Amino acid sequence: MADESKKKKSRWLWPLGVTATGLTGAAVVLLRGCWHNKMSWPVRSHGYSYQVCMGCGIKRLFDEKAFCAYGPYRYDLNGLIAWDRAHQGETYPQEERPAS
Ligand SMILES: [Zn+2]
Repeated sequence: MADESKKKKSRWLWPLGVTATGLTGAAVVLLRGCWHNKMSWPVRSHGYSYQVCMGCGIKRLFDEKAFCAYGPYRYDLNGLIAWDRAHQGETYPQEERPAS
């Protein structure tokens, strides 16, 4: 009986770990060493264009007029939109990431 309960415990921990990897994207980047150099074609959504990394699925905003990616890397599109609204009118070099 005691052995049976031990098995159950290790079984429910594993799907939990899979969910955690999806949420903690930054940790995945560190573990995989993904540099996001394989980005998808720009996707349009909510009036914004963004690219998705083929390696880890992280997103980055894409300027269709300038035809280049800009802003920080985020897994959450809402976070990117919020960042863009906060920094509208400002231009950042591609590699620079604002502290906020
Ligand atoms: Zn990536």
